[in-house]
Amino acid sequence: MKAVVVHAPGDLRVEEVPEPSAPAGGVLVRVVYGGICGSDLHYAKDARNGPYAVTEPLTLGHEVVGVVERLGAGVTGPGVGTRVAIHPATPAAAAGRTEPTGLHLRRGGAYLGSASTQPHTQGGLTELLAVAAGQLRPLPDGLPLRRAVLAEPLAVALHGVGRLGDRVAGARVLVSGSGPIGALAVAALQHAGAAHVTAADLQALPLQVAGRVGADALVNLSEGGRVPDEAFDVVVEAAGVLASLRTAIRAVRPGGAILQLGILPAGDLPIPIADVVSREVALFGTQRFDTELDRAVEVLAADETLAAVVTDVFGIEDAAAAFARAADSARSSKTVVRVSPDPDAS
Ligand SMILES: [Zn+2]
Repeated sequence: MKAVVVHAPGDLRVEEVPEPSAPAGGVLVRVVYGGICGSDLHYAKDARNGPYAVTEPLTLGHEVVGVVERLGAGVTGPGVGTRVAIHPATPAAAAGRTEPTGLHLRRGGAYLGSASTQPHTQGGLTELLAVAAGQLRPLPDGLPLRRAVLAEPLAVALHGVGRLGDRVAGARVLVSGSGPIGALAVAALQHAGAAHVTAADLQALPLQVAGRVGADALVNLSEGGRVPDEAFDVVVEAAGVLASLRTAIRAVRPGGAILQLGILPAGDLPIPIADVVSREVALFGTQRFDTELDRAVEVLAADETLAAVVTDVFGIEDAAAAFARAADSARSSKTVVRVSPDPDAS
């Protein structure tokens, strides 16, 4: 079967790998779509993502949906043919621990398509993927796989917005950076009751997508658009770039909050932190997600407009072109690899 495998910096291959067998306590999923994430782009280009270096061939992909193909020993369901999203995390639960939340912050867990573990945790851009039964999230009938592939990044946005608690309902919000995660943040903010959401970006296409998923105002920063100072109750930084964080600090009102949703570069960063302190701005960190994948599936089922975030679909044989498109923020929002034929389309 085919898989999208990174071997070294700039060395991404579509290659034949052995088919897995259905694991005891788990299932084989025939992967239909896999979204390309910023972390996948880092792995493809640099064979590294933040602190995690690729030291053996790594199949990429953690935003995965498909159809249950085969059940392993001891598994009674969901049955063969069930359309599913896959929870990419296998948290390392503490012995005897019972509370179901907060596990995403524990060290030592695994995540699909990640070099954070040795051996690496192989990812989902492959035709057949073995997962534990507990990672499966059956999809409602009305939710096409092509939209459902947004479940993982939408869960990231929902988790981040959830960190803001009751600051969102009725708030005036700026989303700085309108790529896929920014667009999904716009949707998450609207579903959380924000009063008015402004999306800002340097490119036209991401702003179009943000508008289609519910942004009330769009600011194109490369065409003379400007974000007003101290005008927003909440600012969501969704680009992961320093200039955008500086904009966020300038644009948030005194006593407001910034959610750092984009992944910033590691190491020391020059930001005007004194302005954050003196204006009593709350700065929220966020990391992946916790239990929000179920809510993401519900939101995707209820909100057809989110389909607009998937701008490009490439067959697995064209994975190189898919990665190039995903890296081109002027031309794409979420780029998706079609790993197997889509049963919804037949
Ligand atoms: Zn992702």
